[in-house]
Amino acid sequence: MSKTILHIDLDTFYVSVERLNNRELQNKPLLVGGTGDRGVVAACSYETRGFGVHSGMPMKMARELCPEAFVIRGNAGEYSKHSDVVTEIIKEYVPVFEKSSIDEFYADLSGMDRFFGCYQYASEMRKKIIRETGLPISFGLSANKVVSKVATNEAKPNNQLKIDEGLEKPFLAPLSIKKIPMVGDKTYQTLRNLGLRQVRTVQEMPMEVMQRVLGANGGVIWKRANGIDNTPVIPFCERKSISTERTFDKDTIDVNKLRGILIAMTENLAYQLRRGEKLTACISVKIRYSDFNTYSKQLRIPYTSGDHILIPKILDLFKTLYNRRLLVRLIGIRFSHLVSGNYQINLFDDTEEILSLYNAMDNIRKRYGDKSVLRASGMGAKTIGRMHNPFNGLPPVVLAHRKI
Ligand SMILES: [Mg+2]
Repeated sequence: MSKTILHIDLDTFYVSVERLNNRELQNKPLLVGGTGDRGVVAACSYETRGFGVHSGMPMKMARELCPEAFVIRGNAGEYSKHSDVVTEIIKEYVPVFEKSSIDEFYADLSGMDRFFGCYQYASEMRKKIIRETGLPISFGLSANKVVSKVATNEAKPNNQLKIDEGLEKPFLAPLSIKKIPMVGDKTYQTLRNLGLRQVRTVQEMPMEVMQRVLGANGGVIWKRANGIDNTPVIPFCERKSISTERTFDKDTIDVNKLRGILIAMTENLAYQLRRGEKLTACISVKIRYSDFNTYSKQLRIPYTSGDHILIPKILDLFKTLYNRRLLVRLIGIRFSHLVSGNYQINLFDDTEEILSLYNAMDNIRKRYGDKSVLRASGMGAKTIGRMHNPFNGLPPVVLAHRKI
């Protein structure tokens, strides 16, 4: 049975929010991101793109390319607030939707046409979002997520586009292969070196050739180029915090072991934050002693998802908390005050080196499992970790009281 999938995306979201708060920035070139020496561009306005500026590039380079641009340090709390308002409006219209990042949503509208045209319905929702938030937003509508996402990008800025069923291939054919979701810079270069430029050429090739060149990914890219995609819309459920804890089989007073476990827990939760494109601004540590008295301590911190920042703070908290010299029965940590933060690690303080380090580590984890990369100090702690993303709408994680 054919489906109707909607993809909705706020245009240059951080930039739009900054302009909402300061009208003078309207139509001016604008860079949002880290303003320090080694900061990275988190978002840039359309006016800067002609200069070769793109998000993810060092701020220093962006400033050189576009010296007239206004540079603003981002504000995670502010963006999160506006994202929540948009989310609430979408929730009114489509009870089941996926929030794939701070400014991007999917909804499955299949079966709705009988009552109301999907396109008309999506148009009304888009109008309402623009009216109530003042933020520009675009959507694409088609039979699957991939084609809808590409359609949204073609519709931008501030517009909408519907691709009728059966017309996916001709729609994609003239586009650059760069526009296929999943074709990053590296894959693009590989394909360009093979003389591929347009999606049409991929469509005309046998899938096996793509697989030979790019492995399993080649098959997925070939399917996407042909407008084939069956990935479902994953219902969104908001999580305000993530946590993990462990009860010991035998109460312990071995501080090194406790620290090792805290490190492993922090690494794991921080990875989950990054996977869910979240940042935390509040961390806490909990200890239960053998007499069942439980203590916890929390600390507000600048937004981050980097374990190199979180681990020392968690260990500091533990140091001030663990003062009874009694056997410990349970320890745990919690990250709360979560906000969405795209690919950032340490919002607006990221450097290129840090971003690529975490990218590399997390790619290894995605491919080989949560525990494929660990700090040596956390290696002693076995069986911490879960294999799924806590932010993708699956039921809340059961925090296992695992044995070690
Ligand atoms: Mg966007």
